[in-house]
Amino acid sequence: MKKIGILGSTGSIGTQTLEIVRSNKDLQVSALAAGQSVGRMEEQIREFSPSIAVMWTEEAANELRIRVADTKTKVLCGMEGLLEIAVMEELEVLVTAIVGMIGIKPTIAAIEAGKTIALANKETLVTAGHIIMPLAAQKKVAILPVDSEHSAIFQSMHGENIKRVSKILLTASGGPFRGKKREELEHITVEDALRHPNWSMGRKITVDSSTLVNKGLEVIEAKWLFQVEPEKIQVIVHPQSIIHSMVEYADGGIMAQLGMPDMKLPIQYALFYPDRRPMEGKRVDFFALSTLTFEKPDTDTFKGLSMAYEAIKAGGSMPTVYNAANEKAVSLFLDRKIRFLEIYDLIEGAMAHHKVVADPSVEEILDAEAAVYEYIESRYPHFR
Ligand code: NDP
Repeated sequence: MKKIGILGSTGSIGTQTLEIVRSNKDLQVSALAAGQSVGRMEEQIREFSPSIAVMWTEEAANELRIRVADTKTKVLCGMEGLLEIAVMEELEVLVTAIVGMIGIKPTIAAIEAGKTIALANKETLVTAGHIIMPLAAQKKVAILPVDSEHSAIFQSMHGENIKRVSKILLTASGGPFRGKKREELEHITVEDALRHPNWSMGRKITVDSSTLVNKGLEVIEAKWLFQVEPEKIQVIVHPQSIIHSMVEYADGGIMAQLGMPDMKLPIQYALFYPDRRPMEGKRVDFFALSTLTFEKPDTDTFKGLSMAYEAIKAGGSMPTVYNAANEKAVSLFLDRKIRFLEIYDLIEGAMAHHKVVADPSVEEILDAEAAVYEYIESRYPHFR
């Protein structure tokens, strides 16, 4: 029996992870964590009987405690609760499917405790990759990517000599606004941005896909996961999302992983690596597809990608600033407080305003995040 914990169990990745648990009887859920979704958490506790459940706020945890008082599940709250899950004795794999930088501390604690990490929470690696990857190597802990592109790269490196990698070819769907120019993005609404052509995902990552910030975060994530210089990571727009990414080797040979756009495959691959378990679902039908197309990303219009390369180049705390400004800007956009294109303005402004801290500690990363939030609030005091 493999015992797993899921941080972010009520979200898109979290619920798909639980679907995999339902169809694999040798997986057992030891712990679940969510933000505020008390009702969904109650349902999950009744179905999966975890030892621990965590809600982010005290209020949500109190409500959950009352609702599940007849079960054996212990209800905790906040960062303390997340850290308790991370170090649970019985836990083997921690699925980090929480959104945002909140994932940094629990991920580090789980690595310290020797847990395998199935990593979806890319913001953690983007901001603290320089701490997480060496720590994982030191503790001999596997960081198994859940992000579909990184899983594809990981699968394309299986059995290969990583020193012979000449390029990573990171594919991107291009999002819902592919082909549009800046003027056409002036009046984009929240509903427009949440309409992704191929993938069904949480709200924040769906907006990130429409700005190409998601691809920018993925470039930084790939740099850390595969220890590849950013110049060797090339983003290719592939609107059909069938090739999930590729790796080119020194002899010009390219390995790719293909499949239907369905996150359950990379999640299941991470949970059972190196095994490939059977999975129901649609298969790629090449005759029905007939064409796979490729384009250069328009980084002048979708500045999310070019700004990520600038953040990597500046190094140190700058990727944190890129990520934190984006987190804040997307949340303001989703609350209909800023316009779509202002997401770029806020990231750009925050990056220009920041003095890089080299090799930041976790505390310095969190300080940089707080400073970005302060900066954005000073620009928009009425949104405080
Ligand atoms: P969702 O918004 O769908 O889900 C987020 C989950 O995190 C929810 O369970 C939410 O709980 C929980 N959560 C939010 N804040 C907290 C908190 N402070 N404490 C505890 N739990 C919290 O996000 P996704 O599943 O789409 O994405 C999760 C991560 O995976 C992100 O980093 C994303 O970039 C990455 N990812 C997602 C992919 C996808 O297909 N969705 C693909 C690749 C990567 P609640 O419901 O209560 O708010």
